[in-house]
Amino acid sequence: MKESKRPVAQRMVKLRLCPTARQEAALADQGHAARTLWNLLHEWYTLYAPNRWPSLKEADDAIRQARREIGWLSVLPAQACQQVLKQYAQAWRNFWNGSHGRPDFHARVRTRLSVDAPQASALKIGRLNHKWGEANLALIGRVRFRYSRELPGLGRRAPEGRITGARLVREVNGWHIVFRCEFHRAPAAPGSHHGPGVGIDRGVAVPLATSDPDQPYLRHGPWLHPKEAERLRRLERRAARQQRSARRGQPTSRRLQHTRDRISEPRNREKRRRADWQHKVTTMLAARYGLIGIERLKVSAMTASARGSAKQPGKGVAQKAGLNRAIQREGWSCLLRMLEYKSREHGGAVVQVPAFNTSLRCSACGKADARNRKSQAVFACTNPECRYGPVNADVNSAYNIKTDAIRAASWPRGLASLAALGSRVDGRSVAAWRKRRPRRWLRPNRQPNRSGTA
Ligand SMILES: [Zn+2]
Repeated sequence: MKESKRPVAQRMVKLRLCPTARQEAALADQGHAARTLWNLLHEWYTLYAPNRWPSLKEADDAIRQARREIGWLSVLPAQACQQVLKQYAQAWRNFWNGSHGRPDFHARVRTRLSVDAPQASALKIGRLNHKWGEANLALIGRVRFRYSRELPGLGRRAPEGRITGARLVREVNGWHIVFRCEFHRAPAAPGSHHGPGVGIDRGVAVPLATSDPDQPYLRHGPWLHPKEAERLRRLERRAARQQRSARRGQPTSRRLQHTRDRISEPRNREKRRRADWQHKVTTMLAARYGLIGIERLKVSAMTASARGSAKQPGKGVAQKAGLNRAIQREGWSCLLRMLEYKSREHGGAVVQVPAFNTSLRCSACGKADARNRKSQAVFACTNPECRYGPVNADVNSAYNIKTDAIRAASWPRGLASLAALGSRVDGRSVAAWRKRRPRRWLRPNRQPNRSGTA
């Protein structure tokens, strides 16, 4: 809305939906109708549309006509239909920007079902007690949800702001309602966080080592308990076996599908636990430190396979694969993204420094030497005038990262200018995005003429 000039922070608030069995079935019907509508649109745009790309108006008219003529499509509210079209158009825009892959059909299995409820006023959100809330869903009725977080603008103690819409999504562990929220709070001015600086070293043995002597290690337990991990391994072995016995070109067997569904449950649990820990730890870091230094790691390069070629097979392939899995399981890029936006909200800054020699350089005298690293875990300086250590190697790296980050932030124009530069300093460079732009012939309005087949 135009009249609101107040600073807003847009956030999603995802709460657990608890529909009755009848409501759940209706939700699934709506989800599948939305998915099929997407597929119809995709088919129409890519296969049957004339060489000219149809306009949004034409697509909208086609949807209205389909809703009148196709019975099962009428279970999906008209507003949700519009939203599918919007998302479809956005998917092409994302593809042309180079940030996402080409839009494709949504398969019946392995697609996250979702239904949009874009009008917040139609939701008529109510609170039953401290645990439960209720919302109106079109063509379904009042559905309960767990009120596990405060929603803006509802009740006396709620944060200031408003809800602009919602979306229903089906995850592995059930349906959720995702509220689109606007929180009316001013983000802190860049560089206004006067907390101390800190260096953070990411690793596998210790997830995060910091240069703060009060809390040198930030740890978490294994994401899955031993029994859960064992169950996951067993299921993965079973899936691999069923995959091997599958015939080429045949559709996926029901048994394999079933195994994959069961695998997704512990994997999803792992993901939720990781996100929980990451949110807690990044909130703490962003609130405490004004400048956060972190190594610029190329995760995709680090997790390249050691397999080598057929002529020259690599060494330690299985070990490297295990390390790769451990790196991927940490979800570093996700952690960095959280750290960046939370730090920005607090008026601090995240500075990425090159990961050059940070593990071999002595944080006391600055000399880098391969012999400084006594083992994977222990660092001791070999410079006879220094003799720093032995200390934990990750903590030594964290000190180096802190020094580099402070140096980078104070040159050339100080912290405020760094924060203002934002993504250009710590995100992808513009050149990298340019490279990813698709070639011209991939653009649908320039597709090769299909007259040969007509
Ligand atoms: Zn030294």
